[in-house]
Amino acid sequence: MDGNGRIHNFGAGPAGLPLEVIREVSDSLPNLNESGFGLLEISHRSEVFQKVIDEARESVRRVLSIPEEYKILFLQGGASLQFYMTALNILREGEKADYLITGGWSKKALKEASRIGDAKNIWSDETNGFRKVPKDGEYDIRDDAVYVHYTSNNTLYGTQYHHLPSSSGKPLVVDASSDITGVEIDVSKHDIVYAGAQKNLGPSGITLVILSPWAISRIGNDIPTMLDYNVHIEKGSMFNTPNTFGIFVLGRVFAWLEKNGGMKEAIRRNKEKSDLLYKELDRTDFWQPHAAIESRSKMNVTWRLNDTSLEEIFLKEAFDCGLGGLKGHRSVGGIRASLYNYISKESVIELVRFMKKFEEAHG
Ligand SMILES: *Cc1c(COP(=O)(O)O)cnc(C)c1O
Repeated sequence: MDGNGRIHNFGAGPAGLPLEVIREVSDSLPNLNESGFGLLEISHRSEVFQKVIDEARESVRRVLSIPEEYKILFLQGGASLQFYMTALNILREGEKADYLITGGWSKKALKEASRIGDAKNIWSDETNGFRKVPKDGEYDIRDDAVYVHYTSNNTLYGTQYHHLPSSSGKPLVVDASSDITGVEIDVSKHDIVYAGAQKNLGPSGITLVILSPWAISRIGNDIPTMLDYNVHIEKGSMFNTPNTFGIFVLGRVFAWLEKNGGMKEAIRRNKEKSDLLYKELDRTDFWQPHAAIESRSKMNVTWRLNDTSLEEIFLKEAFDCGLGGLKGHRSVGGIRASLYNYISKESVIELVRFMKKFEEAHG
């Protein structure tokens, strides 16, 4: 437990959130910002809520250093809807888009884009179990591709780009769901950035979408209203009733990040946490880390036990020690520790201490 009766929550999402944020949410439930209206009970058309969404947007812009001319949207439907919506807005029938396939989420993105145009898998590590991300020069981008899509961090397999992948000058679209605010991202070098909030940014049911002027200029006509980025831009993400609760929480998470040193500190914390865990994983071959060293994720650390029959016992004993959410994704198995914003260095130290004890007892 983390000292507040809360488990050390290493779950991949919906994930733990900073306790300070949870307390702010809890205080706002009966009465939001002394408006007399509870957080779940206030009109999105009220001035009080308008202020909440405006502040959230400004905080997102500051923390992620988003250029002024980029638009920030808070949408529903998760990152999964963005797989389709990105292509629907910026790709036309018969046009080409190139996809780097580094895990289950990229495959799903490709599948949805294929409904719109000629979306192509230009690199994949699937036959090798998705252990790495491509290096520049390992794939060819088609001359007439409209954009290149990649998944910055592979939540299921625990791999991550540590460089901006080359797109040969083409616009870049990124699914940053599981590492946004955890690692460096240069928004100005992307044309669409999207991220489901429930990993690093807040609760489920809200998706952050960032659009460049180029992406906005590409938006087609005749797009169904709710799927049309222009509608959401014009209406300030409030064409219909938005996820008011989610927007509030996301705003508080960004405010928490600003109070705690912004991206610079968030990146430092995540490096420190992941270094601690990988050091233990490399200490003994009792553990078998999944990702190739150069592609290791700082957000989702995945490994098997050399004796896989011990994995169930590992998970059970870890849980009994207050370490939860460690079960690997069902498509991969094994163990996965997600190190999002909420997870402190102390939680990782607890995990490593438990791992050493476990190895002594079973190794
Ligand atoms: C979790 C996740 C998704 C799916 O997000 P939903 O909000 O559930 O649609 C997509 N991409 C990545 C990289 C993820 O980690």
